[in-house]
Amino acid sequence: MQQRRLDLLTRLIHHPGGTCEATGAVNFPIYEVSTFRQEAPGRNRGFDYSRTANPTRQVLEDYIADLEGGSAGFAYASGMAAITAALLTLRSGDHLIATQGLYGGSYRILTQVLQDYGISSSFVDTGDLQAVQEAFRDNTRAVFVESPSNPLMRTTDLRGVARLAEQRGIITIVDNTFLTPLLQRPLELGIDVVVHSATKFLSGHSDVVAGLVVTAREELAGRLRHLQNAMGAVPSPLDCWLLMRGMKTLGVRLRQASESAERIARWLAARPEVTAVHYPGFGDGADSGLHRSQAAGAGAVLAFRLAPEVDVDRFLAGLRLWTLAVSLGAVESIITVPARMTHLSYPEEERLRLGIDPHLIRLSVGLESAEDLIADLAAGLGQSV
Ligand SMILES: *Cc1c(COP(=O)(O)O)cnc(C)c1O
Repeated sequence: MQQRRLDLLTRLIHHPGGTCEATGAVNFPIYEVSTFRQEAPGRNRGFDYSRTANPTRQVLEDYIADLEGGSAGFAYASGMAAITAALLTLRSGDHLIATQGLYGGSYRILTQVLQDYGISSSFVDTGDLQAVQEAFRDNTRAVFVESPSNPLMRTTDLRGVARLAEQRGIITIVDNTFLTPLLQRPLELGIDVVVHSATKFLSGHSDVVAGLVVTAREELAGRLRHLQNAMGAVPSPLDCWLLMRGMKTLGVRLRQASESAERIARWLAARPEVTAVHYPGFGDGADSGLHRSQAAGAGAVLAFRLAPEVDVDRFLAGLRLWTLAVSLGAVESIITVPARMTHLSYPEEERLRLGIDPHLIRLSVGLESAEDLIADLAAGLGQSV
């Protein structure tokens, strides 16, 4: 009889290799070690040097591969190192199509680094499949998508993009940082590679910078394994362990934060100082139905636009609970002005074209009481006009 596959909530707690066989310790130990004694030259027990592989990192890599439904996971020292590794599966002369309004660091590596190595990019509204189709060139080798996009929370049809790419035999990469495998599993929708800034929801406590990559395709896994060892941008065993500790509580954290985020979105939408609220699946537009068809929830990040007469700096100065910072997905609620903080690597003209102006505010909802968070926003708005 086939055994029932355990739910994700259970697999967050009980994952393969997550305990210590030798001692019964319920947490896998931190192997803070760089090298491993060899029994004879080239003969070892699966580990020889920690850049190549480390037992603690291995458990983390198997953990994320299981959650995303992939066959191989790779851990990196940051989300950007993970994204860079995924992009380096391309070669000089290749072209990539990416979601416009991509995370600022991803935009920067594409336009200010990889461009100089002969990898060119086009940024299009991937929410519009026709626009994706029109952006294909003879040398297009990958499509890189953020859904929902940041900070305007636009949804891309991941099944649709996967289908277009498959017809051309090219790869698709999705940055799943905002939703995590609990709410969206791109590999199950036909996407080839998932990347994460594990710094955000997966770790959840603003104490680790790390990145993850997952794929279910063997040839890509081989190339990523080679790149991980060649680049050497791996996380420390301690950071791998901290990340796993954070991931165990992802289920309750994300549920609580998403619930509060939805309440805050509704509250903001009713405020006279707010002209728009961007939250995946919010409202009844086409985007909402699409989001719900491929994701199990909206997550805990939203954006809103303040009316032109609102003084943004006075609004921010009136907040006591919301932490003004970059980053997201943490236990503490974070408020960001993307145009002045996270999206500075975009030229101003491009930012404005995308609708990322200084009156657009992004919220990452944490685990404080929703009433307190709303009262704090009300206090800020009260002294902003
Ligand atoms: C933060 C972030 C990154 C970059 O991750 P780091 O861990 O900061 O290097 C990439 N993509 C998204 C969507 C992010 O929010």
